[in-house]
Amino acid sequence: MMQEPLLISSILSHAVQTSPDQCIVTALDGGEYHEYDYTQFNGRVRQLAQALLRRGIAPGDRVATLAWNTYRHLEIYYAVSGIAAVCHTVNPRLYPEQIAFIINDAKDRIVFVDTHFRDLVERLRPQCPCVEEWVWLEKGDETALTAPFSRYDAWLAEDDPTFDWPVFDENTAAGLCYTSGTTGNPKGALYSHRSTILHAWAICHPDGLNVSCRDVVLPVVPMFHVNAWGLPYASLLSGAKLALPGANLRGEAVYALCEHAGVTMSAGVPTVWQGVLDHVTQNRLRFSTLRRLVIGGSACPAHMIKAYAEADVKVSHAWGMTEVSPVGTVCTLLPEHDNLPEAKKLAILATQGRPLFGVQIKVTDDEGHCLPWDGQTAGNLMIRGNWVIERYYNKPDTALDGGWFATGDVASVDGNGYVRITDRSKDVIKSGGEWISSIAMENIAMEHPAVQIAACIARKDEKWGERPMLAVVLRQGMQATEQDILDLYRDRVERWAAPDSVFFIEEMPLTATGKIQKSELRKRYPMS
Ligand code: ADP
Repeated sequence: MMQEPLLISSILSHAVQTSPDQCIVTALDGGEYHEYDYTQFNGRVRQLAQALLRRGIAPGDRVATLAWNTYRHLEIYYAVSGIAAVCHTVNPRLYPEQIAFIINDAKDRIVFVDTHFRDLVERLRPQCPCVEEWVWLEKGDETALTAPFSRYDAWLAEDDPTFDWPVFDENTAAGLCYTSGTTGNPKGALYSHRSTILHAWAICHPDGLNVSCRDVVLPVVPMFHVNAWGLPYASLLSGAKLALPGANLRGEAVYALCEHAGVTMSAGVPTVWQGVLDHVTQNRLRFSTLRRLVIGGSACPAHMIKAYAEADVKVSHAWGMTEVSPVGTVCTLLPEHDNLPEAKKLAILATQGRPLFGVQIKVTDDEGHCLPWDGQTAGNLMIRGNWVIERYYNKPDTALDGGWFATGDVASVDGNGYVRITDRSKDVIKSGGEWISSIAMENIAMEHPAVQIAACIARKDEKWGERPMLAVVLRQGMQATEQDILDLYRDRVERWAAPDSVFFIEEMPLTATGKIQKSELRKRYPMS
């Protein structure tokens, strides 16, 4: 058979040849939309590639972005990797010190920035001497355009929209993304062209994220959060229409974009989808075209899957992580589940689903012995495969344990390969020698209509070692007492597993990727 290197530029060439008129829509600030087709997109990507080469960007150099999901960000994705440089998507929601650490660790030469991050750039610039040029992505204050600042559209003006992509080894690095560093400094995961394409192919599978040319895909998950879960590649590979949300991820704006662009499928973390659901319910709206949602990044509560089903939107729960490019497992039902009662179906849909072909998983005890796939026994979730890292960027030692990557998650797996994540290992609650799943306890609390978000953490206890307690944020204008919430657990879980106290807080601390920051919660509310 022929050997064709799996290069990201081949996605672009295929997309423009087979779907030249397909659209890319971006929500701009102020409620306007930008729209152009793959042909115009392709021309600008090729112009940008030449502009990067003219500035001396060589294979392997890192070029960073601090940007929301927009067409310009997408152009950078394709242009940078197309010339064998590395597109480093920096998460602007991290602390400035962490961002400076990341930019210096990666030695980024150029940073493309949304004007939203003007203040952040002011703080970063003196700390990041490796950056030769900061490029504003939107029009803005012209006085800020002296070196080392420049403007993106001016870069593109000089070049011809035709350009032949170089051909190189498919194992060449294409993208770089750092973990959010909840423990210690952030660590980089470096993706190759090969891993990126294999991952994009795999997520297009019907039992994966199921992306096709009939879809209008809305990656709500930011392009700085593990390449928007691969959707910028999977969408073009399939010839789908893309809708990009820009900076505004509030329920109202996401809903408006869904309706404007005719979005059929979207993906993001549960907190964003709760906001969209609240907007739709409060305003008695319906989704005209949205039919599928991929929810992951943290556990999607069963009640959210049910609420979306009632709005005619099917939720696929997915699990992944930065080190896994990110998608590892996705939940879809088997034919034998079709006739199950709704509650049982929902229980399956609330699991994190089955591994995609291309990755393998196992669960082990602390001595490394494999545990059975019986749907009960929980252990350390290990993963290996074509889009799982072998080591962290700039770290010589392998990140693997006997050839497997230890995810830090605790999970059980059933006989069909459905994974149920019960916790991150550092969040597991150990009470009287038994493990209590904080995720399971949170899901029950969130069934209460007045509960906007709940987190279950351990309180030190003399007798039991730890006891589960809940931190709860109530919905605006709604009420619930501690007892109302604790009553939800009666007859649902063993008494020893049920939380025995609730504290109400105004706002849930969230990480830079929108997940509950339990470390911060523990710090703010000492529980010993
Ligand atoms: P971080 O949250 O540290 O920025 P990641 O996005 O890589 O980095 O987070 C990966 C972690 O998120 C997983 O190890 C797991 O703990 C959690 N996670 C992701 N998806 C799910 C899910 N569907 N259910 C439960 N936990 C999830």
